[in-house]
Amino acid sequence: MEDCVFCRIIRRELPADVVYEDEQVLAFKDINPQAPTHVLVVAKKHLASLDDLPAETDEKLAAGIFSGIQKTAARLGVSGGYKVVTNCGEAAGQVVGHLHFHILAGKKFVP
Ligand code: 5GP
Ligand code: ZN
Repeated sequence: MEDCVFCRIIRRELPADVVYEDEQVLAFKDINPQAPTHVLVVAKKHLASLDDLPAETDEKLAAGIFSGIQKTAARLGVSGGYKVVTNCGEAAGQVVGHLHFHILAGKKFVP
């Protein structure tokens, strides 16, 4: 998508602090961190939110995204101690309309 901020980061038109990349995802530090570790794992394919992920028809994409989340956590050294959040829709607080998962770690979270 032309004007999508995450698509622009994926195309390297905008800078980002990239921590992991593979075929399906790009992971980079959140510009406004809410925890000592706060990284966004972004699907390289432009999908508006989790609702638009074709999980049943494109298992490779769905599996690749979750593999990318695991590998990003490993790269960050937080495996076994991190939270994953995706905001789906405005009502849930989604601001950027491109599928992404927040990896948060390094502080005490209230369950
Ligand atoms: P959402 O509320 O949509 O789930 O979260 C979007 C996240 O993207 C926010 O945590 C925000 O700080 C982050 N963000 C928005 N624009 C940029 C940007 O240009 N670069 C980076 N690194 N993070 C961004
Ligand atoms: Zn996009």
